[in-house]
Amino acid sequence: MSQIKFPKRKSGRKRKIQAYQKLLYKKVLFYKKKRKKRTFYKKGSNRKMGRGIFSRKNFEIFGTICLLSLAVVVFGHVVRWNPTARKEPNVVQQKLSTSEDYQILPAESGPCGRPEIIQDFIVENPYSRSGIPLDAVNGIVVHYVANAGSTAEENRNYFENLKDTHLTKASSHFIIGLDGEIIQCIPLDEISYASNERNSDTISIECCHRKENGKFTKKTYKSLVKLTAWLCASYGIPSSDVIRHYNVTGKLCPLYFVRHEDAWTEFLSDIQKKLEKNG
Ligand SMILES: [Zn+2]
Repeated sequence: MSQIKFPKRKSGRKRKIQAYQKLLYKKVLFYKKKRKKRTFYKKGSNRKMGRGIFSRKNFEIFGTICLLSLAVVVFGHVVRWNPTARKEPNVVQQKLSTSEDYQILPAESGPCGRPEIIQDFIVENPYSRSGIPLDAVNGIVVHYVANAGSTAEENRNYFENLKDTHLTKASSHFIIGLDGEIIQCIPLDEISYASNERNSDTISIECCHRKENGKFTKKTYKSLVKLTAWLCASYGIPSSDVIRHYNVTGKLCPLYFVRHEDAWTEFLSDIQKKLEKNG
């Protein structure tokens, strides 16, 4: 009978040594990796401050941009707020540069208070300012200048120049410009040449307009309401006696208010509201 040889089993001591070696090897690998990570962060930047887009450098740049933007905004506000830096010449200042012989009646408060009026009377002449006294003031007649884009001053000068040109007889007590400026051309106790057979007992208001359709700008409209309400209250004229040139002669004047009856009714109602507020 032959003997079977079994492989020799490793002794318990050897196995322990091998297991210990394996453990040691793993530990070394672990520390090596850890060390690698540390060096990586050190190379980039301080880990606590973040890296990539959150780096300290980027924070500093971002902060600087924010501060600069804030400074620009604050500076802009200071410049805009400064009244001398953005003051635009108003109607009166524009007027100063073109004419010297005029007077400004300041605006008054109240629902029917007088709006600001530039009194720039045209010289007496048979074609636009006859000097004939008004018989009475029984109504107010609204007109449009029928010359799209022209200014109040241009129309005033047109009336005055009729003394030389002799083209026709024409004028108006008031002209309201595209920016709402009001120029008075004729004193309120004299007649104007605007409303045919009603010249002798009415006050006339001409209005400028940008377009051919004769529609007034918001500013022109606002001044027209104010001026008419003031005149109505001053002379005790009801809104029903505010009329269009059209109501006197059938002329398409003021064009927009003739073609848009609803707009005319609304205008009269705006006057009425002011008169009622005035009490
Ligand atoms: Zn007219």
